[in-house]
Parts: sequence; structure tokens; C-alpha cells
Amino acid sequence: LETNKRSQKPIKIIKKKNMGRAFVYVILGGGVAAGYAALEFVNRGLSIGELCIISQEPVAPYERPALSKGFLLPEAPARLPSFHTCVGANEERLTPKWYKEHGIELILGTAVKSADVKRKTLLTATGETISYKILIVATGARALKLEEFGVTGSDAENVCYLRDIADANRLVDAIQSSPGGNAVVIGGGYIGMECAASLVINKINVTMVFPEEHCMARLLTSKIASYYEEYYKSKGVDFIKGTVLSSFDFDSDGKVTAVNLRDGRKISVDMVVVGIGIRPNTGLFEGQLTLEKGGIKVNGKLQSSNSSVYAIGDVAAFPVKIFGETRRLEHVDAARKSARHAVAAIMDVDKTDEFDYLPFFYSRVFTLSWQFYGDNAGEVVYYGDMSGGGTTFGAYWVSKGHLVGAFLEGGTKEEYEAIAKATRLRPEIEDLGELERQGLGFAVTT
Ligand code: FAD
Ligand code: NDP
Repeated sequence: LETNKRSQKPIKIIKKKNMGRAFVYVILGGGVAAGYAALEFVNRGLSIGELCIISQEPVAPYERPALSKGFLLPEAPARLPSFHTCVGANEERLTPKWYKEHGIELILGTAVKSADVKRKTLLTATGETISYKILIVATGARALKLEEFGVTGSDAENVCYLRDIADANRLVDAIQSSPGGNAVVIGGGYIGMECAASLVINKINVTMVFPEEHCMARLLTSKIASYYEEYYKSKGVDFIKGTVLSSFDFDSDGKVTAVNLRDGRKISVDMVVVGIGIRPNTGLFEGQLTLEKGGIKVNGKLQSSNSSVYAIGDVAAFPVKIFGETRRLEHVDAARKSARHAVAAIMDVDKTDEFDYLPFFYSRVFTLSWQFYGDNAGEVVYYGDMSGGGTTFGAYWVSKGHLVGAFLEGGTKEEYEAIAKATRLRPEIEDLGELERQGLGFAVTT
């Protein structure tokens, strides 16, 4: 309220502030899913100025898997712009120039601080209000911190997490500052296994510490896990299982010099890598959208409880037919395909079916390489040579009389395609012994 100078009566002044920009489509988050969604929009005929991507990262969308693999190599490491999306799916590499040429606004280095799904607006940390007709939430996830498990000091310069380019640069600095040194890797999941391999390749001595009985406990059986653990041991990696970190020791510069484990052991270190899981970035939408399994619940068109908001990638909990339930999948293939499907549903809803996704996970470490399709539920049938040292072997999962999951280490492109196809077909399995006898041949001939 201000006062009218002549009449001295109070008057209401509505000041037109910077109203910000308006777009038909906004993608919130600039990671893997955002890059693949952008390509799909363009392929389907996007008009100039219709799409905007807002990312707190300072670079255009890139293939995040490169950060724990090629990025950490001592010789000829991968660096941007070589791994911008969508090279991971053998498609176009979308550089900042590509976004410009297609009239896509890339707002980088800018976090969104709040969202109002009723008003269809986002407020950025720079104070700009961005409005949309359709919002695609692609905010991914954040790495869990040791502090969330009661351990303090994980912000020390030689303690590394790995989620984005900034983390990866920090990890490379720590590796380069620890030649021939000792590292402890906390966590026996994907980050732990892939980073441990990269550290060994950088000639760093590695001890892995995790609470489970074997590595990759959520996906792999103990028999498959022991194959990888033996391989890692042959490369000099030590395993300490069934315990967790309880505290760090520091020097006068604040660098970590040792880790103390709950079982009483102390390990001297030059650096530490932590990979203890993630939490999806749902915070902006809590209380506004329905959440499930820690993510934003979406239907088979990747549409959330608000019809103008879609969610894709790590943050989306979507119906997965093979599981018979809604799940969140934290893998790059799901990010790429959910992104494409959401854009198809947005731009051509009549021709777009429900998302029918076959879960696909993979990893590459040292010279090993595996792929997994489907669900790891039910009984397990192994085949092939598990004697170690880079052999080819695999496993099938059979649940309720049907093949629901398949794993293969050291396969060829055709063999991986065969296990994917067989898993999608869910063939009936009457005799587990016969499946074992046929081994990989079963998938190849299905
Ligand atoms: P992300 O790629 O994480 O992108 C999310 C983006 O949103 C980020 O740019 C983030 O900064 C931004 N953002 C979040 N909140 C905000 C906000 N409020 N404002 C603005 N921007 C925001 N999967 C595999 O299947 N195979 C692999 O080999 C593999 N390797 C991996 C290696 C590493 C090191 C990591 C970390 C993950 C790996 N993954 C792998 C998992 C895979 O990368 C993820 O599943 C995938 O990146 C998910 O894509 P996304 O777009 O949902 O999220
Ligand atoms: P994961 O969930 O794969 O593994 C986390 C590991 O840390 C588990 O072994 C977990 O045990 C363990 N853990 C949990 N809490 C503690 C603790 N306090 N101390 C020690 N260990 C603990 O997560 P990551 O961090 O490895 O990976 C992060 C994300 O990146 C995931 O979404 C993953 O899918 C993705 N990624 C995928 C890759 C791929 O697909 N090839 C490669 C790299 C990353 P528990 O199971 O008991 O909780």
C-alpha cells in the first residue's frame, strides 16, 4: 500500500515484477533423462522456444555412467564434450550448440528452489519464475552422506562421493594426490565396485568395506558375487565384510588419515570413496504430488498425480509389468527409455501405449562386463564356466514356472540380445535341470 500524494488516501499498487519466462515444456534437471527427452522432443517436431531445461549442473546433459569408468582412467580419460547425451545409446551427441540450434533454452548452473504445481511455476535460485504448460521432473537423485549414518567429517578433501562432474573432478584430484597410496571404499554396490576397479587401475591399494556378506547384495547371488570378489582379490583388493565405518581420524590439515570400523579395526588411508546409495530428489514436490517407493508415482504414461507433471529417470516410480508393481529403477537404460516414453505420451498420446519396460542393468569393470535383464526373483539356475579370470557364465531366475530374469558375464552382443529377448518372452520352464543343461543355448534358441 502507498499513499496518493494529492488525496492522501491509501492506494494499492500492483508492481509488475520481472514475470520471468514461460515455456510450453520445461524439463527440471539436466541429467541423462533430460538429454534423451530433449532428443525425443526434437525428433517429434519441437518448435523453437517451446522447451527449456533447467539444471543446477554447469554443463549440458551427459552420460553419467562415464564418471565411474572412462572419466577415472589414468590414460586418455573421457572428458566433456565427448560424453554428452545421447552417445551412450549410439545416438547424436547433444552439445550446447545442438540445443541452441534447436531453439531449446538451457538454463545451466541454476537450481530450482521451489515448485508450485497448481500455478505451474518454478522459482529458481536466481529469483526467476519460470512457468510451464507441461513439466517433466528429471531431478535424479543425490548420494547418501555418511553423516546420515551418524559418521562426521565426510566433507574432508580426501573423502569422495560420486554423483556429478564436480564429484568426479574431486575424485580425480584425490587419486592424483595418492600415487601408490591406500584407499578405503565404503559400500559394496555399483559405485563401490566400479570405483574400486578404477582405483586399482590407477595403482592405488584398495580395501572395500561393506555391511553385507557379499558385494552387490541386492542384485547378485553369493555365488555370482564370489566370482567378482575373487577376481578383485586377484587384482589386490581386500574385502572387509559385515561391518561399517564408525569414525575417521584426521591430521592437522583436516585430511582423513585413517578409518575406524565398528568391529574395532583401524585402516590407514590416503583417500576414501563412499558409495552407500542414493535418495531421489523429490523434495520440491512433497505434499504436491503422490510419492511412492521414495519417488514420484507415475502411471504408464509417466504422468504423475498432477496431469501437467511427468516424472522420468531415477526420480520416477512407475509400473513395471515384470515385477507386477510400481518400482523405481536407478539405472541409465530406465532413464533413457522413460524419458522417450514420456515425451511420446506428451506429444502423441493417442499413439502411445503404456510403458512396458524390461529392466536392464549392466556394469563394466577391468576387462569384465555383465548384463542383467528382468527380475532376480525365484530359483536360480547357473550355467557356464565360473572358474574365474574372465570366463563366460550366467544365470536364469525362474519364478512361478516362468523365466523372469537372466544374467550373463562375458557375452557377445548377440548373446546379450538373446537373454534380453528370452526374458521378455517369459517362457514357461518345466524342468530346471533341462534349463541348466541347455544353459546359454536356451536363450539363443528361444
Ligand atoms: P541424473 O542423471 O542424476 O540427473 C539429474 C539432474 O537433475 C542433475 O543434473 C541434477 O543436478 C539436476 N537437479 C536435481 N535437482 C535439481 C534442482 N532442484 N534444480 C535444478 N537441477 C536439479 N546406470 C547404469 O545403468 N549403468 C551404469 O554403468 C551406471 N553408471 C553410473 C555411474 C555413476 C558415477 C553414477 C552416479 C550413476 C550411474 N548409473 C549407471 C546410474 C545412472 O547414471 C542414473 O540412473 C541416471 O543418471 C539417472 O538419470 P536422471 O536423469 O534421472 O538423473
Ligand atoms: P547401491 O545402492 O548400489 O549400493 C550401496 C551399497 O552401500 C550397498 O552395498 C549398501 O548396503 C551399502 N551401504 C549402505 N549403507 C552403508 C553404510 N553406512 N556403510 C557402508 N555401506 C553401506 O548404491 P551406490 O552408492 O553404489 O550407487 C549409487 C547409484 O548409482 C545407484 O543408483 C546405482 O544404481 C547407480 N550406479 C549404477 C551403476 C551401474 O548400473 N553400473 C554404476 C554406478 C552407479 P545395503 O544394500 O545393505 O544398503
